[in-house]
Amino acid sequence: MSDWRTMTASQPSPSPAAVQARPGSPATAYIDLAAVTANVRVLREHAPGAQLLAVVKADAYGHGLVPVARAALAGGATWLGTALLDEAIALRDSGIHARIFTWLNVPGADFAGAIRRDLDLSASAPWQLNEIAAAAQALGCTARLHLKVDTGLGRNGAFGPGFTEILTSARKLERRGIVRIVGVWSHFAYADQPDHPTVRHQQEVFEAAVREAEAAGCDLEVRHLANSAATLTNPSAHYDLVRPGLAIYGLSPVPELGDSTAYGLVPAMTLTARFALVKGLPAGQGVSYAHQHVTAADTRVGLIPVGYADGIPRHASSRGPVAVGGRRYLVAGRVCMDQILVDLGADSPAQAGDQVVLFGPGAEGEPTAQDWAIAADTISYEIVTRLGPRVERVYVGGSEEPS
Ligand SMILES: *Cc1c(COP(=O)(O)O)cnc(C)c1O
Repeated sequence: MSDWRTMTASQPSPSPAAVQARPGSPATAYIDLAAVTANVRVLREHAPGAQLLAVVKADAYGHGLVPVARAALAGGATWLGTALLDEAIALRDSGIHARIFTWLNVPGADFAGAIRRDLDLSASAPWQLNEIAAAAQALGCTARLHLKVDTGLGRNGAFGPGFTEILTSARKLERRGIVRIVGVWSHFAYADQPDHPTVRHQQEVFEAAVREAEAAGCDLEVRHLANSAATLTNPSAHYDLVRPGLAIYGLSPVPELGDSTAYGLVPAMTLTARFALVKGLPAGQGVSYAHQHVTAADTRVGLIPVGYADGIPRHASSRGPVAVGGRRYLVAGRVCMDQILVDLGADSPAQAGDQVVLFGPGAEGEPTAQDWAIAADTISYEIVTRLGPRVERVYVGGSEEPS
């Protein structure tokens, strides 16, 4: 029986107990925590003058919130960030003491819970500032605040005169000790195209907002704008803190400019599954829904128990790559809710229980998440982030580091 662990020489040696998939587990994502730690170190070398906030939103892009957060801190991240408040609270409640920043809320969010847990909060709109201030006042605490300026993404953040408005209100609250304005921040629209004219323009708007805040009396601790792409390609956007997400998982945010290896990154996730069935089919037999694939000759097909319910994109029907015994195949026909097939050829020795690799670092010739992104006409972010809860996560390469 082939096993991914025997085909990946570059793998760190984890403790044997940590590497075991549950017996009978249909699909297992191995998460290489040592790769996360190493990727964070590499990103810090790209931005030596800035602190690093590891973005671990969306269950750490599908890799697992708390284990990845600890691995990122071990690599020198001093901040963690999540879009949603619940994940930030979960991080703090897991015993992590690092700074934790969270930025996307709707009215009624548990700002009191956030302030009690010493989280860093963002304000993009008057309602958010008002609710944060009310919660801080009720607790008799000072809330730490980062003002978000929309510098041209046209998404979250205060735009134009809206920024002046929220800055003025926040400064009044700061003088009363209700909030402390520690940051001004924003997000790029075209970070993956570093020469795009909007990049320079957004930086100019950002720097003007920072000057405006300082002129209003803010004593800013961190000014931050850079995601993974800007961390890797645009040193002028590093400011005091960079906020990479995708790159800490070892995936390239700019695949047209360079792959993971080109940036010294190692993809942390290896998605494996085991054949549920391998059987012979005659030539001319349709395979899977609507018979999108028809066998060209007598052959053996292998049934893999992952499907679109697990995040395998249906758009990758007949296109998604799978490694079986060191050889690459394409998904045969439609991706179903729970399963996909591969057409292995008549001579395949594969049998039920054998392990297949959907994607991994690519070092042993296996497909990568980027290959799946191309097959499904999407980005690698979506491939790893959509991986569902039925796929077991097994952590390898971890170390016990202080939080
Ligand atoms: C998701 C996110 C990031 C990280 O983006 P990557 O492209 O994954 O590096 C940074 N900042 C904000 C505001 C985000 O929403």
